[in-house]
Amino acid sequence: MQLQLIGAMLLATGTFVTAQQSASPSASSPSSTSSSILAVQSPTWLPKFSKPAGVNDGYTGKPNITDTLPTETLDLSAYPEPWSAPVTDHPEIQAVMKAIDWNHVPKSSIKKDDSNGDISFSGYDESKDPDCWWSDTNCIQPKVPYLPQDVVYCPNVGDWGLNYDDGPMNPNHEDGPLNDDKWAEPELYNFLAKNNNQKATLFYIGSNVVTFPAAARRALNDGHVLCVHTWSHPQMTTQSNEKVVAELYWTLRAIKEATGVTPRCWRPPFGDVDDRVRAIAWQMGMRTMLWDEDTDDWNMPGDGGGDLAPSTVDGYFEDWINKRKNGTDNEHGHIVLEHELNNSTVSMTEKWLPKLQETFNVVSMHQCLNISQPYWEENWVYPTEANPDPAQNNNSNNTASSSSSSTSPSSSSSASDSSSSEKASSESSKQLSSSTDSPSDANSAASSLTLSLATGIVMLGTALSLTL
Ligand SMILES: [Zn+2]
Repeated sequence: MQLQLIGAMLLATGTFVTAQQSASPSASSPSSTSSSILAVQSPTWLPKFSKPAGVNDGYTGKPNITDTLPTETLDLSAYPEPWSAPVTDHPEIQAVMKAIDWNHVPKSSIKKDDSNGDISFSGYDESKDPDCWWSDTNCIQPKVPYLPQDVVYCPNVGDWGLNYDDGPMNPNHEDGPLNDDKWAEPELYNFLAKNNNQKATLFYIGSNVVTFPAAARRALNDGHVLCVHTWSHPQMTTQSNEKVVAELYWTLRAIKEATGVTPRCWRPPFGDVDDRVRAIAWQMGMRTMLWDEDTDDWNMPGDGGGDLAPSTVDGYFEDWINKRKNGTDNEHGHIVLEHELNNSTVSMTEKWLPKLQETFNVVSMHQCLNISQPYWEENWVYPTEANPDPAQNNNSNNTASSSSSSTSPSSSSSASDSSSSEKASSESSKQLSSSTDSPSDANSAASSLTLSLATGIVMLGTALSLTL
């Protein structure tokens, strides 16, 4: 209650960002159209990397198809051991810990594994669901007013927001007889490029980025959207605050060093998120993005996979296509979970994507959500359904589009209200602005505003400009 009061007071003074709640409110969830979402700033704690060679200056949507990619790694000595749980006493992690406003991180219980290593719901009051714990209740509307709702589906009927987890798929498998090299990148990216120049949103594992940065650069240049999917793929609600920070930080750092961009989107492995984890991710600049349908493709036989019969996954795809064709799928579009994980998952998408393209409007997840600027670097402006050709409109709209992303990673909305959302966001940023930096100045400093209230001190980063 106290937090709601603080939020209301700040909203009244115009120092909180008013943002549309979500691109995908579910019918059963609160349908508020605006809320007092905590303003966040572009990360100041990432190292200042020079622009990587071979990366475009912004979205072109023109893939460069090649049969192979360089396999040089980033400087691995600067990172935790790939796929290991990162240490938390590292000075870079401590710097992020200091930057987070812990008054705006709910003190949810840290969840535990049971004796089988599966997450345990024992003792959690799922009827009240105090932590908005998705793994237990599928909750997507945080219990605190200062966090945005999770993204779960495309608002427009007939849209298929294409997305893949767990990449970029490395060729260097060490752990089994399966040789997936033919299926490693650039296999999927080539396939997408050759099939209607298809774009997708890619949720990357930091350990896969540091070991295969050329694949991340290729995906960015091709026009895909890069998001964070942790360093070592744990159940995030079982991690301490420091470990949550470390899982997110090293992945952000890897993507930034490899490609020059800083994502404002993340997906929790297994969808395992609660309000504590959401709040930390939000303050690190990222909105939580889930899905509304799951292919279970990760569970098919393959490197790192399971024992689900591929025919079952085929059945899911057939069902989605049939429901769309016969009109029973008529409430909203979909975000369907798929993976670039192994030969099985990649061959499954190669089998079904052409059929999906005949039935659905297949676009990247961000395009269906009308999120034009998925990174804190504002020179990357992607097509959306509201603005399918940003390159054409870049010059005239540069000012408006650049300010729309400056205050909050929540600036997504349905096609019908995107303009009002961007306007509200833009106006908020003007109120908060104390600088006139160029949107393309990647080294300009973010401004911040400290507001003292009787109830406490809240740091509000305005982040009009980029600091990355
Ligand atoms: Zn995953």
